[in-house]
Amino acid sequence: MIEQSHYVTPREIINRLCSATLQADICACLGDLITHLSRRGGRAFARAAIRATLESFGGLLSGMEFDRYCGGYTMIQPRNAFRVLSALSLYLADPLEVMGTVRQTLELISSFQKATTTPLAPEEIHAVLGGTRLPHCIRVASSWRPLLVFRIDAAEPIYNSSYLSGINAIIASAPQKDRRQWAKQALLHELGHAIQVALTKTPFEVPRSFFPVYEATSGRDIGSTSMKDLSEVFADTFSIAASYETELQAANPLCQVFPRWIQCGLSRYFDVLTGEALKNMETLAQRAWDLSWTQASWSEYTKFLTGCPGYADPRIALRDSTRQSVGSGRLL
Ligand SMILES: [Zn+2]
Repeated sequence: MIEQSHYVTPREIINRLCSATLQADICACLGDLITHLSRRGGRAFARAAIRATLESFGGLLSGMEFDRYCGGYTMIQPRNAFRVLSALSLYLADPLEVMGTVRQTLELISSFQKATTTPLAPEEIHAVLGGTRLPHCIRVASSWRPLLVFRIDAAEPIYNSSYLSGINAIIASAPQKDRRQWAKQALLHELGHAIQVALTKTPFEVPRSFFPVYEATSGRDIGSTSMKDLSEVFADTFSIAASYETELQAANPLCQVFPRWIQCGLSRYFDVLTGEALKNMETLAQRAWDLSWTQASWSEYTKFLTGCPGYADPRIALRDSTRQSVGSGRLL
C-alpha cells in the first residue's frame, strides 16, 4: 500500500516561513514553496500562495517590533531579517511572477555566508544615514515606498551591501573582512541607488539631469559609459556628495581620492536635486520625476562649479585618480 503523504498547502508553508528565524529553515520553506508551485503549476496555486502570504505577513508584522527612526526609514534587526525579507518579497510579488520571485528570494538568501566580521551597529547605521549633508535624501528615497534597512549578521559573497529595488531595501550585511573601511561608504552608495530608483522608478536608469554633471565633473563623454555603469557612478557620486564636509568625509575612502572641487560640485547637484524632488513628492509617489536644467539654472551651476575650491579641468584633475569603488554593492 502506498502511503499518502500529508498534503501541505501554501498557507502552511508560508506560516512556517513567517515564524522561522534560521537561514536554513527559511531556505527550506522557500524550496518547499517552489516544489509545490511547480508540481501543481497554474495561476490558482500562485493565487493561493499570495493569499496565504498576505494573511501571514500581516500577522508577522503585527507581532514584531521595528526600529523606526525619525529620519524616515525602518530598520529590521538580524533576528527578523531573513524572514521579513522573504515574506515581504512574496507579499509585494506580482501574482503572475510568484515563481520567479520565490526563486530569486531563495537565491538571494542562500547566497549569504557565515560572517567573519560584525555588521555595523544600529547607531552606526543611523549616524551614517542621518548624518549626511543632504537633509531631504531619506524622505526622497521613501517617496514611493517606505525605505527599509535590513541589518544582516551574515556576509554577502563579494559585496558589503546591496540595494533591493523591488522592496526599496538597503541590505547592510557583515562587511567583507578586507573591505571594512568601505562599510559606511557602501551604505551611502546603496542610499544613492534608493534615490536613483525613487526618481526613475527603474533599477538601472539614472536621472538625465545627472548626465551633464557627470560630464562636467569627470571630463568623460556620457556616451562612453553604459547605463549600468552610470548607475554605479551615480551611487558613488551620491556617497561623495552626502559625505562632503561632514563627519562622514573621513569614513568615505572616495573623499580621499576625488579633488575637493568635484566633491563640492557634486554636493551642490545632489542638494538641488533632492531639494527640488521634495517639492514633487506627490508625483514621485506615482511616477518618475527629474530635475530639468534650464539655460539659466545650468549656467548658474557651472558658475558655482568653476568657483569651487581648487577647480581644474577635469580631464587633467582626474588623470591620476583611479576609481576604486564601483562594485562595492550589488543592485538587484
Ligand atoms: Zn551599486
